[in-house]
Amino acid sequence: MMDSAKRVAEKKDWIKGATGDWEIVIGMEVHAQVLAKSKLFSGASAEFGGPPNDNVSLVDAAMPGMLPVINEFCVEQAVRTGLGLKAQINRRSIFDRKNYFYPDLPQGYQISQYKQPVVGEGKVLVDVEGRSIEVGIERLHLEQDAGKSLHDQHPNMSFVDLNRSGCALMEIVSKPDIRSAEEAKAYVTKLRQIMRYLDTCDGNMEQGSLRADVNVSVRRPGGDFGTRCEIKNVNSIRFMGQAIDYEARRQIGILEDGGTIDQETRLFDARKGETRSMRSKEEAHDYRYFPDPDLLPLELDQAWIARIGDTLPELPDEKIARFMSDYSLTAYDASVLTAERASADFFEQVARGRDGKMAANWVINELFGRLNKEGKAIENTPVSAVQLGEIVDLIGNGTISGKIAKDVFEIVWTEGGSPAAIVEARGLRQVTDTGAIARAVDEIIAANPDKVEQVKAKPTMLGWFVGQVMKSTGGKANPQAVSDLLREKLEIN
Ligand code: ADP
Ligand code: MG
Repeated sequence: MMDSAKRVAEKKDWIKGATGDWEIVIGMEVHAQVLAKSKLFSGASAEFGGPPNDNVSLVDAAMPGMLPVINEFCVEQAVRTGLGLKAQINRRSIFDRKNYFYPDLPQGYQISQYKQPVVGEGKVLVDVEGRSIEVGIERLHLEQDAGKSLHDQHPNMSFVDLNRSGCALMEIVSKPDIRSAEEAKAYVTKLRQIMRYLDTCDGNMEQGSLRADVNVSVRRPGGDFGTRCEIKNVNSIRFMGQAIDYEARRQIGILEDGGTIDQETRLFDARKGETRSMRSKEEAHDYRYFPDPDLLPLELDQAWIARIGDTLPELPDEKIARFMSDYSLTAYDASVLTAERASADFFEQVARGRDGKMAANWVINELFGRLNKEGKAIENTPVSAVQLGEIVDLIGNGTISGKIAKDVFEIVWTEGGSPAAIVEARGLRQVTDTGAIARAVDEIIAANPDKVEQVKAKPTMLGWFVGQVMKSTGGKANPQAVSDLLREKLEIN
């Protein structure tokens, strides 16, 4: 792996400008809401939705004299995420006040972590377009979320909903190791996947549980880093890609005209597909960070951290490697099956003790295909792993052909029931009785003398005969037996 700061993207990722090639440099600050019942410093519910200002304690509303009390579970979740990102866990970290005024921030400051975050450096492997890149993690810190201002409820009034105020966020800051919109999208997708595996963030972008600030600059390939702009609060993976591409072109345009980039904070306008200036970049000193006098430094016990480490689930990279070796899957199939933990578990239930490739085919092509078509999640699949496994067995032991298996799958999907019982009740058993197959073969040969002439010269035409016999037996003949018998009777080898 190349030194992170020196990594130069492949030429195909460069952008052609009027005066030569440019390379995009990206660093992301991902805000992930911690999956927890209550908020970071209060006992109020952290649940999404609900009537405005329903989940607000006196602490979240910043009533004078209220004191924050750290929620141990949120710290555990941050540590778990840090371990999942192969990151350094800091035994001692500090909560600071980040001071600014905004109507949705009643305290007048956000409790965050600045110089000493709970999690330090780590790394994430990201597969993008068949390559694997390593994105460095700079840090992960815990902080409070703000409330939400509602401007669209009334023509000349704004409202504030404090339900989100005080919810725990993990801010995950990457190193500037990302080199294209595709890489940025793949990176966020991977972070989301890891946190969903860990159960530390639900990754629901529509509900705002995962959003990112995207830092973009451009440079000549391999040259020095340029001045960056930070695009705030991009809340969908597709928008991230659009925002990066737009912003890079804007900066290249300015630089090629002989201008310079102002370091600033920008907004992405999804409707127009553009970024626009929000404010010049604020500096850390603008926030007057100082340690929160209401909170003690966070001191973590090594044994406590180790216990969390012991409970980590198998993560996507490890699972993919194991699926490839245990079930002889391709990297592509393994990555499709492991996209979600629930689908990987489902696959393993089907594959255990069976042909892994065949199980993967059935899970990916038939089941996932059908689930996608109907917009259903794996959790709500009408065909269980036990049922699908039974179908795979019926094909494997020659009871039914692959073609009939699709019909059985369809019946199980719509009506439920045991695949083996369905095969018996509907007489779907594959015909291996050579007498019956021989009669069908003879009929097809007798009815098609011209084709019989042709197949002698062109043996690949045998497939046509097999197809005809399968058709006349309602798909129930054993295709291998049909093929063997046809070869014998037509005298081809
Ligand atoms: P700040 O505290 O001012 O936001 P940081 O040093 O924490 O600055 O960096 C914030 C993000 O900006 C990080 O994700 C980092 O990788 C990214 N970044 C830093 N320099 C550049 C650059 N030249 N181009 C693109 N991204 C950058
Ligand atoms: Mg920042």
